[in-house]
Amino acid sequence: MNNIYKCRLCGKIVNRDSDKKWIKSYCDQHRKYSRLMRIELNDKLIDELCKEFLPNYFELSSFKEREILLLESAFSQGAAVMMNLLKNGNYIHVK
Ligand SMILES: [Zn+2]
Repeated sequence: MNNIYKCRLCGKIVNRDSDKKWIKSYCDQHRKYSRLMRIELNDKLIDELCKEFLPNYFELSSFKEREILLLESAFSQGAAVMMNLLKNGNYIHVK
């Protein structure tokens, strides 16, 4: 079964056919051994992504409260779709 893993050293997100909580791996960027930590696909993660990225991409104070709620729900839907694509190994290439 495919799962999403994150390199503990560089933060790279990869897809692996494994159920382990973590996998020993070699980090190309840091040129040393690292661990890929399994990322759980759940609402809490989506929520964290939303909190981390949404305020960085939008100057939210210029939006009305109703618009902020819309943006938040659109963003969490997008994040959920993205995580599902990563997990299923379907990659979108945008030029
Ligand atoms: Zn790495």
